[in-house]
Amino acid sequence: MLGWSINLFRIRGIQVALHASFLLLLGWMAYAGFRDGGVSGMVWSAATTVAFFTCVVLHELGHSFTGMHFGVHVRRILLMPIGGMAQFDAIPRQPRQELLMTIAGPAVNFAIAGILWFMVDYPDQGDLLGAPASLADLGRYLLAANLVMGIFNLLPIFPMDGGRILRALLATRLPYLRATAVAATIGKVLAIIAAVIALYAGNYLLMILFTFIFVTGDAEYRAIRHQEAAQAHWEEMMRHLSRAPRAEPPFLDQPPLLPPKAPEGELGP
Ligand SMILES: [Zn+2]
Repeated sequence: MLGWSINLFRIRGIQVALHASFLLLLGWMAYAGFRDGGVSGMVWSAATTVAFFTCVVLHELGHSFTGMHFGVHVRRILLMPIGGMAQFDAIPRQPRQELLMTIAGPAVNFAIAGILWFMVDYPDQGDLLGAPASLADLGRYLLAANLVMGIFNLLPIFPMDGGRILRALLATRLPYLRATAVAATIGKVLAIIAAVIALYAGNYLLMILFTFIFVTGDAEYRAIRHQEAAQAHWEEMMRHLSRAPRAEPPFLDQPPLLPPKAPEGELGP
């Protein structure tokens, strides 16, 4: 499902890509803008969508650049209608590193909101509803949207940023797997509650998002459990190895003893 994507550009070796379904969202937003406000409505609606998702990319770059500082390899950032996803080869297991890498995402949103705070008036409730129709409107919309994005991502629903922060804090006291299990369980319960609320509120995009979060949180916990089991198995094997008599390495099969072969040309008459 994640394969249908369009590469946009690379930044510091990170591929930024759009999931194909994103184009449907953009098309829908442009159509909704056109329906409400003609051609200019269409342009503003599409521009607002692009500006919003630019902030999503900046949020993901916050995670990515901080991760790269700790030696994490970032494969790509994928934009989907439900948000962005930075794909890392591994997430640092040191709680302090995971904490900093995670906080960096929402911190970018709060920084953008802080900068916009000086440039536009404080947004009122209407600024998040309906498409902006001027640069000042767009600024107010982005100020509110970045505040919401920053706070929303801090919900303790693993693997959202808040859930990762919770896991990192738990991992300072508990073994990593146990910390992940606790954070993932809390996350799954909250994700179900949030999905049901979204369903009742008629916000289907949000409902899909929380369902996706439920599934990815569970998958990440299982992957870590699998890694830990493989690691334990490996350590057990190494212990056996170190206990085995030196003269007989247990894992190296002796080559089968071949019957001595008479050299060619000496086979006799
Ligand atoms: Zn994030």
